[in-house]
Amino acid sequence: MSLLVSMDEWSEVMVLGSGCAGLTAAIYLARAGLAPLVLAGAQPGGQLTTTAEVENFPGFPDGIGGYELMERLRRQAERFGARFVGDAAEELSLSGEKKIVRGARSFGCRALIIATGSSHRPIGVPGEREYFGGKGVSVCATCDGAFYRNGTVAVVGGGDVAVEEALFLSRFCQRVYLVHRRGTLRATKILADRLAATPKILPLWHRIVEGIEGNGQRVTAIALRHLESGERSVLPCSGVFLAIGRIPNTDFAEKVLACDADGYLIGLENNPVATAVPGIFIAGDCVDRTYRQAIVAAGTGAQAAIAAERWLASQV
Ligand code: NAP
Repeated sequence: MSLLVSMDEWSEVMVLGSGCAGLTAAIYLARAGLAPLVLAGAQPGGQLTTTAEVENFPGFPDGIGGYELMERLRRQAERFGARFVGDAAEELSLSGEKKIVRGARSFGCRALIIATGSSHRPIGVPGEREYFGGKGVSVCATCDGAFYRNGTVAVVGGGDVAVEEALFLSRFCQRVYLVHRRGTLRATKILADRLAATPKILPLWHRIVEGIEGNGQRVTAIALRHLESGERSVLPCSGVFLAIGRIPNTDFAEKVLACDADGYLIGLENNPVATAVPGIFIAGDCVDRTYRQAIVAAGTGAQAAIAAERWLASQV
């Protein structure tokens, strides 16, 4: 018995996400004449749109703004016939061989590439939600840094993102604290060296944030605990930038696809961009817990597109 499925739009192949992986997949699919439909997702252009400068994407010896890089990838995909829709996947289901994606509207396709990336990991302390978005808690220095001109801010985390955020904020702020739970940075040496050479940035080692305090309107301080001595302190500041890593955007697919304990999609052993569901392929940061680089996301996006193209050709 065949099930009747209602959908607003049908496409031979769809791409979910418009970050580096999704846009690269779209370029390859479009160039193969498949006119992919791309659901741009909750953050069109993905993570790089909030990165001021990308210095390690091959081909740009002087660096390139993150937003500009993503604009270029999108134009390149459109040039070959990719179509973009401003919607985000909320649920994935199967109807026979058809893949059904529901967002604000519903879409159907034969082949699907999932490149939905990852989101900021919350620190889960009192005050974080209350003061999020325009009230002092931020996850994007490029977007919000200028609001803290001459102010005092704290960045939480010790990875590349935390250090990049701190360096960017040091252009505007009079003091930037870097709150990290260990005594050494996870960030790459080139960034760690830049941090050490920036007197405005003061690392606070072995400390975690226990709470974000405010006056009901805005952040005024953060409560810290030293993990070795147990000492508690209050650090006055007007902004807190959270950069403690990412969580994959895969909730919508968990009923259909295999995920690991942290929600990363799992590919096949002999082909990591393919899944156990014929015609569904995966790429980028929703799969990759190890490298999480723009160029790696672009590479797996290309692989997923080639695999999808070959799979579609094999179905005829
Ligand atoms: P990350 O490398 O996973 O670093 C997360 C940081 O947050 C770590 O220092 C970690 O501490 C800390 N942390 C995690 N959970 C915490 C918690 N509950 N409380 C306090 N601290 C916590 O993540 P990321 O900085 O977002 O970087 C993501 C990826 O993007 C990385 O692979 C990075 O290399 C890449 N990236 C690269 C560039 C570049 O090449 N220019 C730029 C940006 C990002 P521990 O160190 O103790 O684990």
